[in-house]
Amino acid sequence: MSGVNSTFEEIARALEPAKTVLVASHLRPDGDALGSTIAFALWLKSLGKEVTAWNEDGMLEKFRYLPEADIVKQPEGTGRKFDAFVALDTSVKNRLGTVLSAIEEPAIFVNMDHHVSNGRFGALNYIAAASPATGEIVFEFLKDRGATITPEIAANLYVAISTDTGSFQYPNTTARTFRVAAELIEAGVDVGALSQAMYDSQPRRRLELLRHALNEVKFCCDGKVASFTLTEADVARLGVLPEDNEGIIDHLRSVDSVVAAVFFEDLGGGKVRVSSRSKDRRVDVCKVCAVFGGGGHALAAGARIAGSISEVEERFLKVLCDEVRGID
Ligand code: AMP
Ligand code: MN
Ligand code: MN
Repeated sequence: MSGVNSTFEEIARALEPAKTVLVASHLRPDGDALGSTIAFALWLKSLGKEVTAWNEDGMLEKFRYLPEADIVKQPEGTGRKFDAFVALDTSVKNRLGTVLSAIEEPAIFVNMDHHVSNGRFGALNYIAAASPATGEIVFEFLKDRGATITPEIAANLYVAISTDTGSFQYPNTTARTFRVAAELIEAGVDVGALSQAMYDSQPRRRLELLRHALNEVKFCCDGKVASFTLTEADVARLGVLPEDNEGIIDHLRSVDSVVAAVFFEDLGGGKVRVSSRSKDRRVDVCKVCAVFGGGGHALAAGARIAGSISEVEERFLKVLCDEVRGID
């Protein structure tokens, strides 16, 4: 473990002798996790390596449009040995989930990520909290290495960056991000087709989930905090999948008075998943989630908390409201 970043050159040199490489990202993956994984895996394959790409949840249906999506599988076996392991977009090691329980951890363990709360759990770490997406870091890495950005790699990185920046809207979106996006378009990204796949191809049940959220939404803290809950019974009634949840919270955050939005999802077995968003730098939801053992970014963070959904809701909102009142 090291407190300083390895250079791209050091990471590439460490990977050089490896014949078998595992690439993986956090469970409940988003576009950044899966897009970065595929892009990095494709680059390693182009070097002639035997590449395995894993995610606890495998390839989600909603990201099937990613070029070479089939490369991502669910972990298999136990005690599996790889010469090297590259973890992407994963803030804490245990968010690799069942990937970890399937392997014997190799000495060459690379951790590339953009979470400020990253635990630097690799043997080689490259953590760039200013980067809006791990996909942008992977792009910088590939450019540094003089790699060819194929249309397939480009599309995966474009999705990684577009989804993690809220379609180039969040404050971490910089001029550099647009330059990277422009280069990816020059490398073969079809912006219209990919945007439609990302943002205009939702299953109808997701609209039913939104209907539920809009019915359930509660405001507190003078309308500065909005939240909604999803119980196991709601999930059964609506027939929604975990992957349908992503982005619903943005509708709550879009209200002018709202500074922070929270979504509470009952995972069963006495565990609640909390997903939170802030639109004011002074309200750090990563800090709030860290109180409950979670993490993420200042403006987008999560946690898994033990307790009933109503208990967790009460405890979390109390800490969040204290944070929100702090800015008055
Ligand atoms: P989500 O709300 O699930 O979209 O996650 C928002 C951000 O918080 C992402 O960058 C996640 O990686 C991070 N995050 C979510 N859940 C957790 C958790 N249980 N522990 C640490 N980080 C998390
Ligand atoms: Mn992610
Ligand atoms: Mn990310």
